[in-house]
Amino acid sequence: METEQSARVEVAGVTKSFSGEAVLRGVNLDVEPGSTVALLGPSGCGKTTLLRVIAGLEPADDGVVVVGDRVLTGPGVFVPPEERRVGLVFQDWALFPHLNVARNVGFGLPRSERRSSPRIDEALHLVGMEEFADRMPDTLSGGQQQRVALARAVAPRPRVLLLDEPFSNLDATMRVRVRNEIHELLHLLGITSIFVTHDQDEAFVLGDRVAVVNAGAIVQTGSPEEIYERPSTPWVAGFVGAADFVTGQISSTAPAIEVTTMFGRLPVPSPGTDDATGTAVGSMVSVLVRPEHLRVSVPDATDNAPHAPGVVRAVEYVGRDTVYAVESAGAVLRARALGPPLFAVGDPVLIHHHGGPVRVFGGSAESPTG
Ligand code: ATP
Repeated sequence: METEQSARVEVAGVTKSFSGEAVLRGVNLDVEPGSTVALLGPSGCGKTTLLRVIAGLEPADDGVVVVGDRVLTGPGVFVPPEERRVGLVFQDWALFPHLNVARNVGFGLPRSERRSSPRIDEALHLVGMEEFADRMPDTLSGGQQQRVALARAVAPRPRVLLLDEPFSNLDATMRVRVRNEIHELLHLLGITSIFVTHDQDEAFVLGDRVAVVNAGAIVQTGSPEEIYERPSTPWVAGFVGAADFVTGQISSTAPAIEVTTMFGRLPVPSPGTDDATGTAVGSMVSVLVRPEHLRVSVPDATDNAPHAPGVVRAVEYVGRDTVYAVESAGAVLRARALGPPLFAVGDPVLIHHHGGPVRVFGGSAESPTG
């Protein structure tokens, strides 16, 4: 149910150009009331511009932004940012150094409420900082400052919260801790929120849904699991994880789809959505293989399990697991194994596909990671 504080956000057909250069090319996004969506995409793809259009900091050239039942941006309509009830949290979460915590939180409220208001108390309570109301920002830890900044953004009871790369200024350890805290807080607050990141881990941990943005358009929206297991294009597959591709031929479509590959016949739970021709028997397709789908073993003439022979070309040991780059039939495939390396560069090995959702795409597959 849509409460006072949680509103559905709908973005439809939004376009935006700067000096004739298209930055947003018809963006469509639907955010359920009270949920968190991560806009995930490479640098320069238009994420921040989209956030600014939703906030009203940037007019759109075309398209519509609706929050709840109110059109904020549309043909002949432009509600100014201060009337949108959209809260913003920027990268640095900067607090005003000369104002104490309570006055920082009251900053966005009407003048009569800025020094003292139940809304300030409520916001501080929500982030667990009520005991710090009289403290100055420089006496707080980085994490505490971020909680205060979040309290400041939610004090005016926005219907939507927009966060732009909210953790990019933190070191790796702090980042993980703070993002978990903010994740819990966002759910507790039940405010519809949209945040921008180019970090896949962050998008998957924080987003109920992830919208993958590329070159000014949203190319796929789904749960983190959908995006990872059923990427809509080879590009998405490679952007959200390590992705290699091998050639396959569809060998059966009934009762289930199967593809014949260098690792034998593999079941295809759902084919890629970008090319329907990939599902006809006999079609040549690109088959997505992730490192965790492959296993390497010592060559064994008695091994009857389907496999492809290969030679180890690189070994990367990162502590908890090892990734082997194995050359086979002219392609280099990555295989992940738990623990320290058991093979060295130059070793002959067998590669097995040992499960994981098989995804196929028609045509040649290109991904950001190659
Ligand atoms: P990043 O992850 O690097 O912050 P982003 O996906 O958020 O990137 P945007 O900040 O939306 O990308 O920028 C998209 C493109 O639009 C970039 O090429 C940028 O240079 C351009 N751009 C953004 N704002 C303006 C502006 N006010 N005037 C001209 N060009 C702009």
